[in-house]
Amino acid sequence: MSSKLLEGKVGVVVGVANKRSIAFAIAKAWHEAGAKLIFNYQGERLKDGVLKLIHENFGEDVPVYDLDVSSDESVNAFFERVRQHTDKVDCLLHSVAFAPKEALGGSFLETGREAFKISLDISAYSLVALSRAVEPMMSDNGSILAMSYLGSEKVVPNYNLMGVSKAALEACTRYLAYDLGRSRGIRVNCISAGPMQTLAARGVSGFNTMFKVYEEHAPLGRSCTGEELGATGVFLASDGAAAITGQVIYVDGGYQIMGM
Ligand code: NAD
Repeated sequence: MSSKLLEGKVGVVVGVANKRSIAFAIAKAWHEAGAKLIFNYQGERLKDGVLKLIHENFGEDVPVYDLDVSSDESVNAFFERVRQHTDKVDCLLHSVAFAPKEALGGSFLETGREAFKISLDISAYSLVALSRAVEPMMSDNGSILAMSYLGSEKVVPNYNLMGVSKAALEACTRYLAYDLGRSRGIRVNCISAGPMQTLAARGVSGFNTMFKVYEEHAPLGRSCTGEELGATGVFLASDGAAAITGQVIYVDGGYQIMGM
């Protein structure tokens, strides 16, 4: 792959918490492909770590601003700041999810109403909110990318409420792809990643056993790496994917095709 597929493009990356974050892997690949990036951090707790990580890896002058996707005020304030750096955005990465811990294990039947609202809001509605906020600045062939998981379409024990949230995220992806494609030529896709050791993944009960399942059953005998997610992220943001929209692209060692 050419190393400068995204030369001249501007990307907004939402969802870096630390060096293990999928957003960090995709941002690295976008950066290496020539894109200029603007990042968020989620609140004071993560601020210092994220700023240090981003400035060390992408340059001292790379903009990083607070953004809590559950607040319209915060979303609007974030994009106001983005607008101070650029009048166009070519790609947006949504790599954000959250559900209360008690809803990520045990009986799905016991999922509470409040947990459901929080998870669907932060993990799925936020894609609609970010897409609406970025749309006026987005270039006509821009690309919006979100991160999903197989638990959206098949039962993965313990993934529970996050599976339902990912189903909603993927449906939002299709409806946004239709709206934004017709009006602006903007593309919206999901990467469905295999399991990766990250902060968010540690919230899912029994997460570590998933790697063994992928080793035993995936056609490639493994899940995926951050570099592989990054390469797919570059492709989806590039002109090579100009006619791909509304899709869920599996980067999971092929696990999704298996019936047994
Ligand atoms: P991560 O913990 O590194 O990233 C999750 C991010 O969500 C963090 O940066 C966190 O700050 C952010 N976030 C949560 N609530 C937020 C809020 N209210 N406002 C703003 N940001 C908020 O973990 P990750 O595994 O890199 O997760 C990134 C995405 O990838 C998620 O959508 C996750 O579901 C998805 N995913 C992960 C895996 C995996 O195995 N790790 C597999 C498939 C899909």
